[in-house]
Amino acid sequence: MNTILTDTFNRMHDYLRISLTDNCNLRCFYCMPEESYTFTPASRLMQAAEIFTIAEQFVQLGVKKIRLTGGEPLVRKDAAIIIQQLATLPVELTITTNGTRIQSFIPTLKKNGIKSINVSLDTLNRERFLVMTRRDQFPQVYDSISQLIAEGFHVKVNVVVMKGLNEEELPAFLNWTKNTPVHVRFIEFMPFSGNRWSSNQVLTWQEILEIAARQYEFTPLESAAQDTAKKYQIPGHAGSFAVISTMSNNFCSTCNRLRLTADGKLKNCLFSSSETDLLTPLRNGQQLLPLIQQTIAHKKKELGGQFTQDFEKIETAALQNRTMITIGG
Ligand code: SAM
Ligand code: SF4
Repeated sequence: MNTILTDTFNRMHDYLRISLTDNCNLRCFYCMPEESYTFTPASRLMQAAEIFTIAEQFVQLGVKKIRLTGGEPLVRKDAAIIIQQLATLPVELTITTNGTRIQSFIPTLKKNGIKSINVSLDTLNRERFLVMTRRDQFPQVYDSISQLIAEGFHVKVNVVVMKGLNEEELPAFLNWTKNTPVHVRFIEFMPFSGNRWSSNQVLTWQEILEIAARQYEFTPLESAAQDTAKKYQIPGHAGSFAVISTMSNNFCSTCNRLRLTADGKLKNCLFSSSETDLLTPLRNGQQLLPLIQQTIAHKKKELGGQFTQDFEKIETAALQNRTMITIGG
């Protein structure tokens, strides 16, 4: 095993999430707090060839899976080229998208061996979708999910659940899994710069299971060692559901993920307060390996060292991080 991507807690990092842009055509308030947000100019973003060069180095070091994210990865004009190039690497390539533009990418995704896609959809109600994303695009997203499933993709639907906002929709999401092979993943609401997070809005893993248990019996599904989702199956349902319990029961001890922001900064954790510029050194012809090694060596035990599972004690003003849209979820 190549040990360069192994940190001081013996965690091997073989999964790289690459943000293609901090731009997005939706405005989910928990991700992009300001409507008038200034997107990073194209010259400061990694270019397609630079993304490939950096990704190739990570693959040589042991990365086996790459996820494209953002912002909305598919608003980038050269998204198809980037996908084609990365698909030549010996990795499982996948994508997280808001689903608004994915229909026109279906041939590209198929041609390049992408089989599993995460689509974000927090509500099944058009008015609430408008409130949460500040854009009226529910039908496009819902129809895209249906089409992706009909085309044979494994579709996971990411639902950020918040108390007092969309928690009442849990039963509807569970019903959706009955006849549709859709894999719904309820995500605990996480704090990022400026997203007005408060602990009393977090609907926890246990609370989600209690709500689900009022409606259905279900059994846990086996998870892979580094899965972030705790998965469940309702007997007889075509799909399944899962909970991503970052706040109440984190999975940091088995974390295998690294993140590359669209402007070429390497983050060793979603919540890390520090980041390492790889893009400028790449443009200056410098070696990236020592920088990658240093970044891995500094990875904290859990949650970027910024808080603990006792999430009620989080002081949001003290957190040092980017907004989610500039990290890449
Ligand atoms: N635009 C794409 C999308 O929406 O799927 C990809 C980027 S988005 C930042 C990736 C994921 O992060 C989405 O599923 C989104 O719901 C999730 N996310 C964003 N902000 C979050 C927060 N504060 N707490 C939990 N999940 C969050
Ligand atoms: Fe855009 Fe995705 Fe963030 Fe929503 S969650 S604002 S779709 S990047």
